[in-house]
Amino acid sequence: MDLESLKVKDIISGLRNKEFSSYELTSYYLENIKKDQSKSDSLNAYITLMENEALQMSKEVDTQIKKGDASILAGVPIGIKDNINIKDMPTTCASKILEGYRASYDATVVERLIRKEKMIPLGKLNMDEFAMGSSNETSHYGVSRNPFDRTRVPGGSSGGVAAAVSSGLAPVALGSDTGGSIRQPAAFCGVVGLKPTYGLVSRYGLVAFASSLDQIGPIAKCVEDAALILSAIEGFDEKDSTSLNVKSRKYNLTGNIKGVKVGIPKEYFIEGISEEVLNNINNVIELLKKLGAEIVEISLPHSDYAVPTYYIVATAEASSNLERFDGIKYGYREKTKTLSELYFKSRSKGFGTEVKRRIMLGTYVLSSGYYDAYYLKALKVRKLIKNDFDNAFKNVDVILSPTSPTPAFKIGEKLNDPISMYLSDIYTIAVNLAGLPAISIPTGFSKEGLPLGSQFIGRLLDEETILNVSFAIEKALN
Ligand code: GLN
Repeated sequence: MDLESLKVKDIISGLRNKEFSSYELTSYYLENIKKDQSKSDSLNAYITLMENEALQMSKEVDTQIKKGDASILAGVPIGIKDNINIKDMPTTCASKILEGYRASYDATVVERLIRKEKMIPLGKLNMDEFAMGSSNETSHYGVSRNPFDRTRVPGGSSGGVAAAVSSGLAPVALGSDTGGSIRQPAAFCGVVGLKPTYGLVSRYGLVAFASSLDQIGPIAKCVEDAALILSAIEGFDEKDSTSLNVKSRKYNLTGNIKGVKVGIPKEYFIEGISEEVLNNINNVIELLKKLGAEIVEISLPHSDYAVPTYYIVATAEASSNLERFDGIKYGYREKTKTLSELYFKSRSKGFGTEVKRRIMLGTYVLSSGYYDAYYLKALKVRKLIKNDFDNAFKNVDVILSPTSPTPAFKIGEKLNDPISMYLSDIYTIAVNLAGLPAISIPTGFSKEGLPLGSQFIGRLLDEETILNVSFAIEKALN
């Protein structure tokens, strides 16, 4: 049996029909990961492997499954991005400054998936340092590679997460998305990535990058798997003050999209977009029409301001959130004679270049004299961007766009050009500013055989419609 290509839904039935045990499946994945790690061009998807914990837990779950009292997701292996806490395990955020740190508590998503549902944690996945980046190249633990072409990036910041799910190193995984970090790597690696509505999934135990934008979500092999995981992690959590008062939902994916109105923002099809990406979106539009959806041209007039607004709001929040890494409370510490020297040297050596760039930018836009001109202005523009979406959703049910303007780029290609790197999130960033749900699904390949992704954006809390439209396209493409 080809264990590697099994989807979560196949694993659930396979475990119950005794086609394999959770122990066998978990061992298989762990062997696969170790095999990959021994290669010179390893995907480098995992920072920490949880071999003993995973094997031990899978044995216990197998007994429960035999007795017939296991929960639905029990025994299914999962990978977790390394900015989400699993108690007693390292949380590195792919940063040197968290070297040696171990989490003292579980994130709510871990509590729900691993402690309650009994999914099996394979380990902690590689990412850009503190989730800042679009290529996984800012990781202190080295770049993760794209499974379709190992000279290319897997995207970021959840690069290791998408690479793992795409290549048989995890059947499904959790990532986080502040400006595109679930969707863009999912697109680059040919898998499904879902960023839920802001506040739908608890952020408790997710190391904060930009608190008003961060959301945890699944990266999966298919739309149904993403829906299953979302159902298990979503819903109110009193430990997160921004958690929405919503109960967990069951997603009813019919694939029937007759009469669904799909908006195409005219501002999204301008310079910089690769021809292959454009052709791919046109194919998706044709497919949607065939399936009975109605295509409507819409306008999101403030689209040009999304990237600059994001880089003010996100860096401002990051500069404040990252203050806590001072060389005393967590991880890495430089030995010095004075306290201020300790802060200075630990932070200088502990943080990488991109993180420092953002802390400086964020500190600047929040400083007195510049606060009104930059931060306050950015908040106002954020509201205009949100209004654009509200207006659009008066006339359409979902919005379609490419996930990224190009397929996966070469390792090193954009590392010294932060602006061009920042532009690879041009289609995903506005969604976080507006707090909306969005999904990226694989919809084709470039001439070079690199995956291309399409993004569906939904109304607040309308995950069901974007999942259903994605499900319809996925079925039609197979
Ligand atoms: N690539 C964007 C950034 O660098 C988004 C990152 C994310 O979503 N965590 O900030």
